[in-house]
Amino acid sequence: MKHKLYKETAKHIKRLKPFEQKALFGIIESLELGVNFSREFTDYLIDLSKILQKPIQNILKTPEIQDILKSERLPRSRKIRLIKNLFFQMRYPYISTYNSHGNVGQGFMPCQSSKKPPVSVKPKAKQIIFAKQKGKWMKRCPGTPEHICCNYLVINNGMGCPFNCTYCYLQTYMNQSSFDRSVILYDNIDTLLKELKTFLKEETNGNFRIGTGEFTDSLALDNKVGLSEKLIKLFAKQDKHLLELKTKSTNIDHLLGLDHKGKTIFSWTLNPEILIRGDEQGTASLKDRLKAAKRCAEAGYKISFHFDPLIHIANWEEEYQRVVDQIFDYLKEEDLTWISLGALRFLPKQKPIVENRFPDSTRKDEIF
Ligand code: SF4
Repeated sequence: MKHKLYKETAKHIKRLKPFEQKALFGIIESLELGVNFSREFTDYLIDLSKILQKPIQNILKTPEIQDILKSERLPRSRKIRLIKNLFFQMRYPYISTYNSHGNVGQGFMPCQSSKKPPVSVKPKAKQIIFAKQKGKWMKRCPGTPEHICCNYLVINNGMGCPFNCTYCYLQTYMNQSSFDRSVILYDNIDTLLKELKTFLKEETNGNFRIGTGEFTDSLALDNKVGLSEKLIKLFAKQDKHLLELKTKSTNIDHLLGLDHKGKTIFSWTLNPEILIRGDEQGTASLKDRLKAAKRCAEAGYKISFHFDPLIHIANWEEEYQRVVDQIFDYLKEEDLTWISLGALRFLPKQKPIVENRFPDSTRKDEIF
């Protein structure tokens, strides 16, 4: 059977051993995966095989995966989702034990006391776990079938965030108690730099946005590992791709004096101050984010903003208009490279998690 694959996916599969290729094509056929899912499954399986030191065919023989594949009851789309979840749990065993019913696990501690209003509550201190990234550092955005892909490339440098946003989608990725307790940072960054150097040398056909802010805040804990400085310097040596550092912090001082050659973009996620105070615990205020953006612009960096997620709060038009006005109190139009808008990413299982973690959030009904 002929498979429709991206050139790059085909290249990766070609490097596998014949039995691994056979197993991979087996699952692609059985689930009738399109090009995007084929790419995602291939990336996951190659990564898992490296981390678990198991050939791909053995990973696919895992009873849970086999049960899903053989099920006559489950529709194809659900099988794909369940198997992806299993891959994710295998990939991040220490953080992905959340219960599929969305129930809060043992050891969970709500991070807000019910006696205090949300604004005055300090986020719980989270422990930082330094770990080695044993799999691939970079992963392409899987895209959505029949939609133009953003072509974003994610650098998988950590998992978890020191902040506590009520709406954060990471809460459904991670076990709640893990999310409350820890942030994992991968510190073997020499291997990332090696992988990235090869990518930057070989990838001459497209222009990619490559970022570290997918599973953690790019800058909040940057001083712990010192990754951003190394990335900025590396990106300054090429002229095709852009590094994006996405944050809700003001941790920029150590990066202002670098010779970045315009190849790094600093991005802040913005929301009305009323939402920041109530539902983005631990993050910098709107004013402080904009002041930090201004300092980065003065240091010659490109700047972007993401209104993400947009939330339908009371007086939302005035509130969001005020944020737009405030942007231009600090920045000039020419400082801005892009402004993006994003909707809330919300899985049904997120609601009970949020209700348990943020019993005092006055806005959770508006959010969900
Ligand atoms: S800053 Fe981003 S990653 Fe961190 S808690 Fe908030 S939404 Fe989640």
